[in-house]
Amino acid sequence: MTSYLIQGASLLGAKAADLGVLGGAFVDATKVAGLKKTRVIDATGLVALPGLVDLHTHVRQPGGEQAETVRTGSRAAALGGYTAVHAMANTSPVSDTAELVSAVARWGAEAGYVEVRPVGAVTKGLEGQELAPLGAMARSAAQVRVFSDDGKCVHDSSLMRRALQQARSLDAVIAQHAQDPGLTEGAQMNDGPLAAALGLAGWPAVAEESIIARDVLLAESVGARLHVCHVSTAGSIEVIRWAKARGISVTAEVTPHHLLLTEELVSTFDPLFKVNPPLRRQEDVLALREAVVSGVIDIVATDHAPHPSEVKDCSFPEGAFGMLGLETALPVVLSTLVNPGMVSLKDVARFMSTTPAAIGRLEGYSSPFALGEPAHITLVDPTTEASEPRGSLSHNNPYRGRDLEGRVVHTMYRGDLTVTDGELVERPEVNA
Ligand SMILES: [Zn+2]
Ligand SMILES: [Zn+2]
Repeated sequence: MTSYLIQGASLLGAKAADLGVLGGAFVDATKVAGLKKTRVIDATGLVALPGLVDLHTHVRQPGGEQAETVRTGSRAAALGGYTAVHAMANTSPVSDTAELVSAVARWGAEAGYVEVRPVGAVTKGLEGQELAPLGAMARSAAQVRVFSDDGKCVHDSSLMRRALQQARSLDAVIAQHAQDPGLTEGAQMNDGPLAAALGLAGWPAVAEESIIARDVLLAESVGARLHVCHVSTAGSIEVIRWAKARGISVTAEVTPHHLLLTEELVSTFDPLFKVNPPLRRQEDVLALREAVVSGVIDIVATDHAPHPSEVKDCSFPEGAFGMLGLETALPVVLSTLVNPGMVSLKDVARFMSTTPAAIGRLEGYSSPFALGEPAHITLVDPTTEASEPRGSLSHNNPYRGRDLEGRVVHTMYRGDLTVTDGELVERPEVNA
C-alpha cells in the first residue's frame, strides 16, 4: 500500500498544511509521517485543489482512434489536473447501449489515469428520432447518470420531454447541446458584421438561446434536471438566470475557450478557431466571466474535442468544429479569473470539481481532502507558465503562442500519482 506525505501545500489557497494518503484515501498526516515506506512530496509554494472533474470530454473511441483514444484522453486529462472525465457519446458507433457505455468505462479503468464516466446518448444513433435505452445504460456496470446527444441538439420537443421524464426517474440529467438546427444550417462562425465581412455563414445567438428557453420550461413542466452544455452568449445567461430565479432545476457550463477567445480570431481563417458553438464577441466573453463569478454558470467544462490534422489543416469552411481543452482548462481559468482576482481558488474547486461531480452523481468529491475520502488531488503552481499540451494524440490547441499561467505539477488519482513533477507516470496497459 503506497503512502504519501504531501508537505506544505496551500489547501485551496488557504494556509499551508500537510496531507496524508494511505491505501488510496486521505488519512491524518501524522499517521503516515512515521511509516518507512512513505513517499514525501515537498509541495511548498503549490496550491492543492481537489482532483478536477470534467463533465464534457470527447475521447473519440470507438471509431476515431486516430484523433484520441480513451487512454490518450485520460493521459491528457491527468496532465491537466483531472481525475475524472465524462466521455461524450458521439463516437462511432454511438454510445447508446449498455454494452458500449460499459466498454468505455472499462477502457478508462484499464488506462488507469482518471475515472472515465461514459455519457449515454439520448437518442439512438444521435439521430433525434427515437429514445435510446436510458434505463439500461443507467443500470449497467457504467451506471450512467448523464445523457447527451452532444454534437447534436435534441431538437424534437416531445422527445426532449420524454427524455427529461426518464432522466428524472433514473436520478440522471439531460445535458443539452443547445443549437436549433434550422437556424444554423451551414453556419461557420458567430453571426454579425464580422461574419458578413468575412463572407462566412453566421450562427445567430438566438439559435442557442431559444433552445435553452424551451428546455428550461420543459424541465420545469416535468420536474427534471437539465444541464446546458457550453453556454456561449450573454442572452443565454439571462435565460438561465431567469430560470434559476424561478426555481427550475437547471445547471450550466462554460468552456475555457468561450471565457478567453473571441470571434476576431476567425479573421485568420485558421480552422483552429472553428468551434461549436462558435467563438462570440468580447461582450459575451465578459458576461460569461461575470456569470461564473455570480454562479449563474455552475461549472467550467472543457468540451475537449481532438481532431486529426487533416480536418484542421484545411480551409475554414472545410475544417471540423472543436478544440483541445483538457490540458489548458485550469491555466485558462487561473489566467482569466483567479489571477486577476475575480474568483478564489476555493471557487475553482467548486466549479471544476465539486459541482461537476455532483451534477454527474460522481461520489468521492463532495468534501475536498476529507479524511477517509478517496485521495484525488491536483497540485498546481498558479503563477508559473503553463506547460504545452502533450498528452493528447491531436494538436488542435487554440492557445498556441499565448502565455497562460498555471502549471500542474502533481496529479493524484485514488491515492496514486498519475503526474509527478509535471510528467506523466507511465502506467502499463492492463486489463482491468
Ligand atoms: Zn456540443
Ligand atoms: Zn462537445
